[in-house]
Amino acid sequence: MKEQLIASFRARYGRDPAVIARAPGRLEFIGNHTDYNGGTVLGVSIDRSVWVAVAPRAEAEWRLGSETHAGTITVPAADAPAKQSGAARWANYPLGVIAALPKFGLRRPAGFDFLAVSDLPSGAGLSSSAALELASALAFLALSGQQAPRETVVQLCRSAENNFVGVPCGVLDQGVSGFGREHHLVFIDCRGPKFATVPLPEAARFWVFNTHTKHALVDGLYAARHRECMAAAKALGVALLADATPASVLAARDRLPPLEFKRARHVVEEIARVDATVLALRAGDLVAAGKLLTASHRSSQTLFENSTPELDFLVDQLVSAPHVFGARLSGGGFGGAVMAVTSPEFMDAQATAVADAYARRFGSRPEVLRAQTGDGAGLV
Ligand code: ADP
Ligand code: MG
Repeated sequence: MKEQLIASFRARYGRDPAVIARAPGRLEFIGNHTDYNGGTVLGVSIDRSVWVAVAPRAEAEWRLGSETHAGTITVPAADAPAKQSGAARWANYPLGVIAALPKFGLRRPAGFDFLAVSDLPSGAGLSSSAALELASALAFLALSGQQAPRETVVQLCRSAENNFVGVPCGVLDQGVSGFGREHHLVFIDCRGPKFATVPLPEAARFWVFNTHTKHALVDGLYAARHRECMAAAKALGVALLADATPASVLAARDRLPPLEFKRARHVVEEIARVDATVLALRAGDLVAAGKLLTASHRSSQTLFENSTPELDFLVDQLVSAPHVFGARLSGGGFGGAVMAVTSPEFMDAQATAVADAYARRFGSRPEVLRAQTGDGAGLV
């Protein structure tokens, strides 16, 4: 990737880049809809990344290009950048980072040339958007001779996505890309937020089956789940569901409307599963961790009701296959992708068999992607 990036940068701008940064994609390992309930979540940074190269430019202009998008976008470097539309929309991720810098006490870079390359599929639930933001932020800071704590970089990038791009993502995407480490998971306590890493046995492999399905009402469904969780917390007398326990929710079964009870039970038990997963992994026990992943999916299926027949089918196929520790929907649900954690013995042929079965049932093939853990964002 690095050689390709340098060659493409030279071809486009006629000189060498001054700074190169890289940031990985991520998977939600376990911790489904726990973030806005003040809970915990485990993510994993994968071995696919967005790479960004920049070089200073004498003119007061920010010129941005990406190998995956046609054209070069030129923006005056004087003021806060304007939001781009149409084919230039992708540039809102790096421009959003620039727009957010002063909010975090950091300076905007002077004029530059910018190029992104990537081996991370975009729009596949692997958070290429956060990877693009993190790589851009690190490149801009290095170019302008500034340093910032990693927590600040993560919050800066999240702010770019929430406020400039306009996507209300939680802290998982940027937090895992920013704090990831090879052979580790990133543990996030969403209140704070606080970040830590947890060792993951070297044998773990990841397979992603992206259905490319998306519930037509997905935004409304997320909003409804959010509302149901907040109503359940209120009925339980806590600020956020993370302050309740599985026992206190079970004890309130008769006091809560049935739907709120199910949502609350999912959230508090999911938070308990995150803790149990950390313990299992600290003991090097991938079998126990895998069972918790599958239990997480079953809870999404029956209690939080954010799964779909497509996702359930993939999980059913995967957990009955050899060399699979566990499988679950990864991300917000209502469509999207299933993640399986396997041993290295799980092979392409098995993944193909699962995809074939899916195609026979649903008439379209899921996109299959194999991944391992990879290091978090950094300068190259
Ligand atoms: P995800 O983050 O799951 O990949 P999003 O819809 O949040 O999906 O972000 C995808 C968007 O991020 C793309 O539509 C594009 O605008 C931008 N993006 C991601 N990778 C690149 C890249 N290498 N070059 C330019 N834009 C990119
Ligand atoms: Mg994204």
